[in-house]
Amino acid sequence: MSLLQERPAPAHPPRLEGKEVLIGPDPSVCKVKGVMFGGRKQFLLDTLGEEGFIKLLAKLTPRTRGYAKTPLASSWCEFESLIELDRAIHEELKANYPNVLALIGAASAELGIGRVYKSLDSEELEKFLENNALFHNQYQKFGSVKFEKTPNGARMIYSAYPCYSPIFCGSAIGYFQESILRHGGANPTVTETKCQCHGDRTCTFELNWK
Ligand SMILES: [Zn+2]
Repeated sequence: MSLLQERPAPAHPPRLEGKEVLIGPDPSVCKVKGVMFGGRKQFLLDTLGEEGFIKLLAKLTPRTRGYAKTPLASSWCEFESLIELDRAIHEELKANYPNVLALIGAASAELGIGRVYKSLDSEELEKFLENNALFHNQYQKFGSVKFEKTPNGARMIYSAYPCYSPIFCGSAIGYFQESILRHGGANPTVTETKCQCHGDRTCTFELNWK
């Protein structure tokens, strides 16, 4: 279970309004790595159990069901399918877990990082985030990202997305929260201050842990 899931859920669920584009002008680039489905499968098995997982799979279209059932870490999968899965998870679990989208992102970070640092290691955390930016194109075929240090932590700036969804940004918040928690940050705040789903040129996440 992610560290985020062990904490009390925030008072307000994420805002999910905003524009969504699931297939961009060039569908061949609107793809994400299969490893993202791996984290979701683990989260669903932990949260719903085998039977609940199979019931949820039945609600998905065949392609998305295949990705969720048998995630292939290094294959490219349609962004549209990832959002379909996340929307189904949100519908299924939002009553019990209002911040379920963040928990999905946290599960991804848990899978990717594994270890938990005993005390805050800002240097390692910065290196981790910088590597996320550096290897962005191994996880997404679209967009670019810039990592910046700030006095209170860091800023991740994503831009030039041909496809986007508030669902995706909602899970990103949990991914960053879990990344900070696993590196020993005690009280992280992660805020998306600009969002392409709201007409901004970037999705900008302010990560504060210092
Ligand atoms: Zn956004």
